[in-house]
Amino acid sequence: MYIATIRQGHCSEGPWKNTTLWVAGCSIRCQGCFNPELWERKSGRRVYLRKLIKAVRQGRTSGDQGVAVVGGEPFDQPLALGLFLLAVRALFPHHLITVYSGYTLENLRRHPKKWLALWMTDYLVDGPFMPRQAEDNLGYRGSRNQRVIDLKRTRNNLGRKIVEADWDHLIVLGKDQLSGPPHLLQKLLPTHSADCGFVEKESQPEMELPANRIYNSAEKEKMPF
Ligand code: SF4
Repeated sequence: MYIATIRQGHCSEGPWKNTTLWVAGCSIRCQGCFNPELWERKSGRRVYLRKLIKAVRQGRTSGDQGVAVVGGEPFDQPLALGLFLLAVRALFPHHLITVYSGYTLENLRRHPKKWLALWMTDYLVDGPFMPRQAEDNLGYRGSRNQRVIDLKRTRNNLGRKIVEADWDHLIVLGKDQLSGPPHLLQKLLPTHSADCGFVEKESQPEMELPANRIYNSAEKEKMPF
């Protein structure tokens, strides 16, 4: 996959810690996009599955409970995305998988090449970013048109009804402190600690991948992916 950045222990794509991958390349190009520097594939570099899995494994060792794929547009690389998520599902069965896409679920379903990745995903945050519908307090979404879709529950009813996850009312206060309505907390806390907070989030070093840099073998060995 063409990847720009990977971070471990990231808390912005769900109320648990994720190993988060920023893919490079986006054909949607929403007005007001937060990551226009990732629109071109050459803003990242090709990273093979073995290295991606190594990064996920390292994240799990340091306490990550899921994998998030954000963009760029992950579904612009549908087969690579599907195979990566299949490998995550097989090797880390308890990990939660979240994908952010600028396409709506209805659109993604029309393309058979995208079905494998959809099938492997637990939560899909869908739809393009729309500046006119943007608000600061939308939890894990950027604009009101976007939805956090619980794909597992949507699949359970054979896709007849799209089930949305109510993440908007969850607030991460700090390490082990998650605030929100009781029905949401009861659902999340038995299985997921709220081990996410601003202190930890800020302390995570960012691993940038300059596009045209040639790495020597000693540098490659030190990379987590
Ligand atoms: S889909 Fe995401 S990465 Fe692509 S332009 Fe829209 S907000 Fe930016």
